Amino acid sequence: MTVVATRPVVIGGGIAGLVAAWELAMAGRRPLLLERSQAVGGPVARHILAGIELDAGAESFATGRPAVTDLLVDLGMADAIVPPAPMAAWVRHEGGSAALPAGALLGIPADPLADDVVAAIGVEAAAQAAALDARPVGALPDSLGALVEARMGRQVLRRLVDPVVGGVHAADPWLLEIDAVAPGLSSAVTTTGSLAAAVRTLRGAAAPGSAVAGIDGGMAELPRVLAERIIRHGGEIRCNAHVLGVRTTPSGQRVVLADTDGQRSLDADLVVIACAAADLLDPDVLGPAVPTISMTTPVTLVTLVLDDPRLDAAPRGTGVLVSRRVTQISAKALTHASVKWPWLADRLPSGRHVLRLSYGRGGSIATPDPATVLADASALLDIDLRPQDLIDSAVVRWPSALPQARPGHLAEVRALRAALPPGLVLIGGAVAGNGLSSIVADARTQLRAPCAPS
Ligand SMILES: Cc1cc2nc3c(=O)[nH]c(=O)nc-3n(C[C@H](O)[C@H](O)[C@H](O)COP(=O)(O)OP(=O)(O)OC[C@H]3O[C@@H](n4cnc5c(N)ncnc54)[C@H](O)[C@@H]3O)c2cc1C
Repeated sequence: MTVVATRPVVIGGGIAGLVAAWELAMAGRRPLLLERSQAVGGPVARHILAGIELDAGAESFATGRPAVTDLLVDLGMADAIVPPAPMAAWVRHEGGSAALPAGALLGIPADPLADDVVAAIGVEAAAQAAALDARPVGALPDSLGALVEARMGRQVLRRLVDPVVGGVHAADPWLLEIDAVAPGLSSAVTTTGSLAAAVRTLRGAAAPGSAVAGIDGGMAELPRVLAERIIRHGGEIRCNAHVLGVRTTPSGQRVVLADTDGQRSLDADLVVIACAAADLLDPDVLGPAVPTISMTTPVTLVTLVLDDPRLDAAPRGTGVLVSRRVTQISAKALTHASVKWPWLADRLPSGRHVLRLSYGRGGSIATPDPATVLADASALLDIDLRPQDLIDSAVVRWPSALPQARPGHLAEVRALRAALPPGLVLIGGAVAGNGLSSIVADARTQLRAPCAPS
């Protein structure tokens, strides 16, 4: 059966789809959002451990671009924006542990000769980084890893950038397109003639302070508020609605979906795909670019709640990012959430702590056993954590959470979007790149064109 929809259809209820549906609802278009799972938000989700609501996935947003801050302001949530505790995160590399240099971008130092850089990589490597970065800039390589190694040397790449990129993007820096993970970095290197100066330019353009912020009560407040506003402004959200495909017809787009009413079709003049398009569109529409665009990495997040006052001292600041060369630790990152977020510390009894460890890097997913997780946390924090102090724990698997923007990604996305038939919009991490900041900025930009008053 085909039902003609008089309103736009948004497929996928992650942050991208929610932002799109909210933009459409605010423009008076009464969107219908279809979400395959039981709940909207994707990895911006919460769970309850030891009686407290905690983020089960994303816990912060990058502030280098104003996209998420602007969205929160537009939603009336400006008062809920909170900075993390003013402490450094650390990196764990094959030579030991070091505080992440202040002002770094994805671990790339803003000043290779700064004391905290020297402490992390040694005097010789710091001097080499400064000398390499003083050379004239020629044609830039296409990957972040190649750029950093060419302009600052192997130790900066291995000891600083590799752990940060591994923790944030679960990826090898050699496999990531520079501007897809650090928008504007290539042109800033060319303009300023130095990678360090480019970092200073990009960080200087952002709001002062930390490179991230959060929401009082957790990031999961964002999808909750977006969903509430979509409905309030005439939109509809249908969960357990699995879209099987999208076909272009002479009059618009046809969405084939399966939900509790069975399988049927909806015709719509505007369809927004906010999930992996490769699963839904004809190969003819997508062309050869899609296999690269839809590449994702699975992640497992393990949350531990512990009663251990030794953790009050914040032994590794807000957390630790782990180099893949540290083979005795299988976690790729640890966040000391109850140190990083004062709002969370305020809700916990004295001496209680929340640690988040993430696993899975470069496509292989690890399912760590509890003893490994505690051993990893102990090694990273340099405290022998005891099983009897563990109050609660949870393991959450995100099977295709982190898209990998390989070199050539941005050009592929531009080509793909240019080839799309009218009335079809592609958004979400698979095209915009990983992280809430990129996804929100891209979704709002893409949606404003079709929403413009005619
Ligand atoms: C553990 C973890 C921690 C993270 N931490 C951070 C962080 O601190 N800061 C940050 O910026 N980013 C973080 N990220 C990344 C960030 O969460 C994601 O980039 C972002 O949430 C992805 O949003 P999206 O809308 O593009 O995709 P998704 O949230 O994946 O949304 C896609 C939605 O589409 C639905 N769907 C798929 N196929 C269909 C279909 N056929 N029919 C209907 N629905 C369908 C899915 O069920 C899903 O809900 C983290 C990710 C993980 C996994």
